[in-house]
Amino acid sequence: MNRKITFLSLFLFALVTAFFVASISEAERAESFEDRRSRILGELSLAIDDATLDERYSCCIDPPCTMCYMGSWIWDDGICRCDEMIANGEDDKVCPQCVRGLEEGQCKYANKSICELNREVTS
Ligand SMILES: [Zn+2]
Repeated sequence: MNRKITFLSLFLFALVTAFFVASISEAERAESFEDRRSRILGELSLAIDDATLDERYSCCIDPPCTMCYMGSWIWDDGICRCDEMIANGEDDKVCPQCVRGLEEGQCKYANKSICELNREVTS
């Protein structure tokens, strides 16, 4: 009698568990688009922070550009030299994301004149 009840309880438990697992759709088990994007962008941001601490990423805007890290500009090893390019008057080498950021007032320096494009460089 006892064994029969135990077997029946286990069978019912397995049946109910199988029903619930089957009722969760594939999409609900997978990471949502928003969660995935947020996780990836968070990782990207941390990687850029690391590169900045290692002095490999000298970006002129805050938050820093991602374009240079992604290799979508003239640097292909995860560095950014936009800051130096501005200082050297080589505006054509400042990445488009930084140029746009500067136009939108995202210069990272308190002294905004450091980020001025099209300035005369005296050598
Ligand atoms: Zn840049």
